[in-house]
Amino acid sequence: MNQVYYKSTRSDSDPVTASQAILQGLAKDGGLYVPVEVPKLDVPVEALAGKPYVEVAYEVMKQFLTDFTEEELKTCITRAYDSKFDTKEIAPLVKVEDLYYLELFHGATIAFKDMALSILPHLMTVSAKKNGIKNEIVILTATSGDTGKAALAGFAGVEGTRIIVFYPKDGVSPVQEKQMVTQRGDNTLVVGIHGNFDDAQNGVKAIFNDRDLEKELDAAGFQFSSANSINIGRLVPQVAYYAYAYAQLLNRGEIKNGEPINVVVPTGNFGNILAAYYAKSMGVPIAKLICASNENKVLYDFFQTGTYDRNREFILTSSPSMDILISSNLERLIYKVAGENAEQNNAFMKQLSASGTYTLPEEMRDRLKDFYGNYTGETGTAEAIREVYEKTGYIMDTHTAVAAHVAKAYRKDTGDQTKTVVVSTASPYKFTRSVMSAIDPKYQAEEDFSLIDELSRLSATKIPQAIEDIRSAPVLHKTVCEKEEMVNVIKTFLNI
Ligand SMILES: *Cc1c(COP(=O)(O)O)cnc(C)c1O
Repeated sequence: MNQVYYKSTRSDSDPVTASQAILQGLAKDGGLYVPVEVPKLDVPVEALAGKPYVEVAYEVMKQFLTDFTEEELKTCITRAYDSKFDTKEIAPLVKVEDLYYLELFHGATIAFKDMALSILPHLMTVSAKKNGIKNEIVILTATSGDTGKAALAGFAGVEGTRIIVFYPKDGVSPVQEKQMVTQRGDNTLVVGIHGNFDDAQNGVKAIFNDRDLEKELDAAGFQFSSANSINIGRLVPQVAYYAYAYAQLLNRGEIKNGEPINVVVPTGNFGNILAAYYAKSMGVPIAKLICASNENKVLYDFFQTGTYDRNREFILTSSPSMDILISSNLERLIYKVAGENAEQNNAFMKQLSASGTYTLPEEMRDRLKDFYGNYTGETGTAEAIREVYEKTGYIMDTHTAVAAHVAKAYRKDTGDQTKTVVVSTASPYKFTRSVMSAIDPKYQAEEDFSLIDELSRLSATKIPQAIEDIRSAPVLHKTVCEKEEMVNVIKTFLNI
């Protein structure tokens, strides 16, 4: 089998192996690692129909992680996708009206981040062994709410690792915050920062690029890595569920062999939808990649005009995991449509950090035709939840609702009747207050946990363990800091 190597989006430095890319997270020049060439599946997609999740995941991931042995990769996969998930399908596909909801929230922290973060710690420890790393690995993560808890759950207690999570103190849902600050494990640290997600993410990126700090850490026996979706070890596992969704549609006779499908992805940092793009590049028959945004609609404007412009107000919405103005993973797509020209991509990224904006030339925009962007505000989000609930009894979360609304708008706009998968990224229990208020404003006055009981009654679903767990859990993390203080907080935790 051909080896797949990874190179940076910002310079033509030497390519690295998959395990090296996973260990490093971000490339030394500040760029993101991309496969030199996106590999193809070596089995026809129809051969995946009826296969369990772990087998599909193996078929997809082995193409990307070519320096892992079969045994290593299979061990990582079976350790990740086990009874931590509350359904043996791992990522069930649920048909509601004429859309298929790919439910990616059945893992330990009830959001789709579990799909990648339950396997990343295993990929990371195998990678460390493979590369003879002696340092303890310090995972540094900025979160808009869901990555943090999923990463904490994945790395807590994993030997040879520590994990530090920064979240915007006033920018996550009450359940998200409670989930994080109650995290157990001596190797974990959770810190609220005064600022928004972009501040947290920029802070973390700056720390990764701080060469003096890197030396200081190394002397003390530590090195940083990332659990954010800038890590290729996050992206690759996400490609798998698009192949799995397609295989499920085939297996149930919902589509004919080779029939293209559309996917609608509620988007923030552009990781999930980029994984769909990779799935398409691998050979999964995906037609349109539909990018759904909330009111922070930088991406919609970008697809509409070719100009990326982050100079705007940051809006706090009921879909906080998508409240993002700098979608990091878009860089991987920009690099691609720039003809894999690192210099040109680098110029755009410099403009972005200097002035907050860049504009693609016409010929690059032409290469974005597989994508369609749209958005919806708070009213549309609430309407999507209420309408589907009233018609069918199915209750979706706010992020999924943004996607469902955009899916319907896309159909109306274009008349395209292609079968469509809506990626369902969180359990409604994670955003109970917003979800229940969308169903009926009378719920606004009620307490969080009584709303949770009511949601369980209305949807006839069991309250997930992740929610039961936080009802009584003590708060263990109380650190709050300014964004300028992030480095100090890290040093204190590591005792250096
Ligand atoms: C992270 C997240 C998103 C956004 O995914 P990206 O890969 O960052 O685009 C959407 N919905 C939920 C619930 C999330 O946790």
